[in-house]
Amino acid sequence: MSRILLHVCCAPCSTASVERLQEQGYEVVLFFSNSNIHPEEEYLRRLSQARRLAGIMHLELVEDEYDHGAWLTRVRGLEDEPERGRRCLKCFEHSLGRTAQAMKRLGLQGFTTTLSVSRHKSSPDLFAVGRFFEGFVEIDFKKRDGFARSIELSRQLDLYRQGYCGCEFSAR
Ligand code: SF4
Repeated sequence: MSRILLHVCCAPCSTASVERLQEQGYEVVLFFSNSNIHPEEEYLRRLSQARRLAGIMHLELVEDEYDHGAWLTRVRGLEDEPERGRRCLKCFEHSLGRTAQAMKRLGLQGFTTTLSVSRHKSSPDLFAVGRFFEGFVEIDFKKRDGFARSIELSRQLDLYRQGYCGCEFSAR
């Protein structure tokens, strides 16, 4: 069984993604890297749900450091872009780049991301960014009703589901 690092955007999106990866025979290691989230209280709330899910599913969870300042630097000049615009591409680059680094540090061969579950994210855009990083595995988790399955599992597990993507510009 090959091990894969799964970038976790939030616990609800991870539910169906983990299920799909396990169906495909992967051993999943979770990686929570979300410096895009603002404010920090919201970041901690989503992190606590990821920890809960890791416990329920008996999975290892690796936690990245939270550095919203570095993320703001990355998206500087793109603050007024709409959701699904150029700011989001930079945001993907930030989180996927950190996941690629973590994959190497942990001695794993591949990584992917839960971001493709969401109906609000363009999978082709996500994959175009992911291809810049060695080890990126393209999996479109929204296929085969992945998004609906993530909602169903989140309800069953009583997971907190956020009302906005994550950054202050998406909350606006
Ligand atoms: S809207 Fe979401 S994907 Fe886009 S920049 Fe903000 S947090 Fe990142």
